[in-house]
Amino acid sequence: MSFCQAHVLMEMCTSPSAHERHIMKKVRLGRTNLHVTRWGLGGIPLSTVMGGTTEEVIAQLVHAALDYGINFIDTSRVYMDSETNIGQALKGRRHECIIASKSYKRTRDDVLADIEESLNQLQTDWIDIHQVHALYPHEVQSFMGKGGGMEAFRKARDEGMIKFIGLTSHHVSVMVELIKTGEFDTVMFPFNVIEREPEQELIPLAASLDVGTIVMKPLAGGAIRNIKTAFKFFNNYQVDVILNGVSNLPEFHENIRCAARDAHLTPEELRAFEQEVACLGKEFCRRCSYCMPCPNDLHIPDMIHLFWHMVKDYSYENMPPEKRNMGESLMIWLQACEECGKCEEKCPYHLPTINRKKELMEKFSR
Ligand code: SF4
Ligand code: SF4
Repeated sequence: MSFCQAHVLMEMCTSPSAHERHIMKKVRLGRTNLHVTRWGLGGIPLSTVMGGTTEEVIAQLVHAALDYGINFIDTSRVYMDSETNIGQALKGRRHECIIASKSYKRTRDDVLADIEESLNQLQTDWIDIHQVHALYPHEVQSFMGKGGGMEAFRKARDEGMIKFIGLTSHHVSVMVELIKTGEFDTVMFPFNVIEREPEQELIPLAASLDVGTIVMKPLAGGAIRNIKTAFKFFNNYQVDVILNGVSNLPEFHENIRCAARDAHLTPEELRAFEQEVACLGKEFCRRCSYCMPCPNDLHIPDMIHLFWHMVKDYSYENMPPEKRNMGESLMIWLQACEECGKCEEKCPYHLPTINRKKELMEKFSR
């Protein structure tokens, strides 16, 4: 991108229209009493590794968000250099936003070390909300017990390193059980028109307990393409913050335009939207990268993406030649998979990566 293009985009992003001001409306984030914008900036694409972008673009995104009045940025210790880039971009502007980060560690000592490192990387003296990252059902007991990570979260809060404790998980049962303990001020979960489990019990329970709600994967990791309707969907629910992961300024601006609507989906619109996404099923990749790294250096989200666009969309015969050539040239890459199964274990949705690799290989080995 040239300097002129970047400048024009920055101008666009620093001049929100009246129509777009809707997203800057602040909501109370449950018992934290923090007043946050309904739209927050998601931290996965703010990593040069996971988002495939540059530090310069990441800084532009952070500044564009702040210039728009967006005051919530979420990240994690496991999003590679995301915390580092955010810390760098926020120099001189730390007071303008609420930072939420996460630790994927599970023991007291490991979580404490992680929090100290997060403070270092984010170049701040405090983290507003620090969250347990993606807790699984089998980890609950040890995490909450003696020597478990929860002890570190309490200690960090008591010492002022963090202000509030949040929970994130892909398992509704874990979140329902744990927010009842009163230990957590916020809860973050995947929620969109395809992943609707939270609407039954979790969302009403969080509201009744005054636990702040943060939605991740509003577009199901990019699988949902109808952004306007996808964002409108959230106006039908009592959720506080919706995280928006964007990799560049045009995407940021486009999402802002789509988000800047406060109308609800009518029952007819909701039904039509459900039909529109029905073909996705449940087994699609959310590009969260929890399955990474692969010991044999395969980029698993790309492989699954390839599966969707090659195996599902075309037969070998009717595939456009450029796609066929691309698939064939990737055979060596696919052959590197030794079917160790580690990615399937780590994936919160247990996507059948090995079978998808086999189907791709079968298709392109002709
Ligand atoms: S099963 Fe294949 S793709 Fe998955 S981690 Fe193992 S080698 Fe990598
Ligand atoms: S395969 Fe699973 S863990 Fe990996 S990016 Fe896709 S949804 Fe995430």
